Amino acid sequence: MQDFDELHPDTLAIRAGTLRTEFGEHSDAMYLTSSFCVGSAEEASLKFTNQIPGHIYSRFTNPTVEAFETRLAALEGAERAVATASGMSAILALGMAHLKAGDHVVASNGLFGATIQMFNTYFTRFGVEVSYAAPTDPAAWATAVRPNTKLFFLETPSNPLTEVADIAAIAEVAHANGALLAVDNCFCTPILQQPLKLGADFVVHSATKYLDGQGRVLGGAVVGSKALLEPVYLFLRTAGPSLSPFNAWVLLKGMETLPIRMRAHCDNALKLAQWLQEQGQVERVFYPGLSSHPQHALAARQQKGGGGIVSFEVKGGREAAWRVVDAVQLISRTANLGDVRSTITHPASTTHGRITPEARAAAGIREGLIRISVGLEDIDDLIADLQRGLN
Ligand SMILES: *Cc1c(COP(=O)(O)O)cnc(C)c1O
Repeated sequence: MQDFDELHPDTLAIRAGTLRTEFGEHSDAMYLTSSFCVGSAEEASLKFTNQIPGHIYSRFTNPTVEAFETRLAALEGAERAVATASGMSAILALGMAHLKAGDHVVASNGLFGATIQMFNTYFTRFGVEVSYAAPTDPAAWATAVRPNTKLFFLETPSNPLTEVADIAAIAEVAHANGALLAVDNCFCTPILQQPLKLGADFVVHSATKYLDGQGRVLGGAVVGSKALLEPVYLFLRTAGPSLSPFNAWVLLKGMETLPIRMRAHCDNALKLAQWLQEQGQVERVFYPGLSSHPQHALAARQQKGGGGIVSFEVKGGREAAWRVVDAVQLISRTANLGDVRSTITHPASTTHGRITPEARAAAGIREGLIRISVGLEDIDDLIADLQRGLN
């Protein structure tokens, strides 16, 4: 295999980590096995004590899972990726490996709901303090720093309002204060954005979304340098939220089409956002690819496209928003995202339904807000489907 540095993302997505047995199969081999046999007692001893490399047990390593890790690391321009059973277990593994009682985390206030739960309900129970800062204001992150701050954690663009955080500026604040920066790159994928190249120390992924892209399996990963990833691997090997080899194989197939899918998602999403902007019943459209987006210039610099998530506010509050959600016949009513099938959700009553109305208002989630994960159906069919409820 050639040096990955010489190859382009479209090639890496298909070729990096390719796994073949002696049979020379063209597609990747799948190793559905929980454990591996050794030739002798001595070989077992050498493998268990890490004196020779080799697979022992699939909670530790598995060839198909390693192929997925190699491909994702190549795409992110990273030394190493460690695969996990889901996006949430990637965030858990990162925290368990790099935080201890008495540490402080600064997190973006535009995070995925379960990530906030993880920080507020579980990490705090083990003595980790968490405070929040606006993703669009690097100075607020500097203000939030305490002497015990160890980790910054952000998502960009944010969900559902698509606020864009300046990764390089926030990385600088983190490093000036002796903290590490983790970026959840689920929305952009490495095809549109490579946070490590902008100064982030970790990337976390929910592979469940665009990396699979077809809504089939759960998966996740933590990506970064060998040194920072070793404790993450050791936690995983001990605690066990490891990626199944079957899911790794499905994700390898998904990633082969990731570059062309991401470009197609961006094209469709931009067209939909532009159309929505012209509708009289639509109050506001949130999409980083629109020149009306407050961080459009930053997004244009930091991302290779606006991504596949478009949110918009309709006039008439919850009643009008629910009418749009209920009227669709093609778009799936589900909170999932990153699929070839478009999905629609009303954040105020679903993903953000359990927080208080005051907290919702503070987060900018209004009653008229609708989020679309724009899939790869024909744009005219998507427009016609939304037109039904807007009329
Ligand atoms: C879905 C999601 C997660 C969690 O991933 P799972 O694979 O569902 O555990 C984390 N972050 C973001 C931004 C997500 O959209």
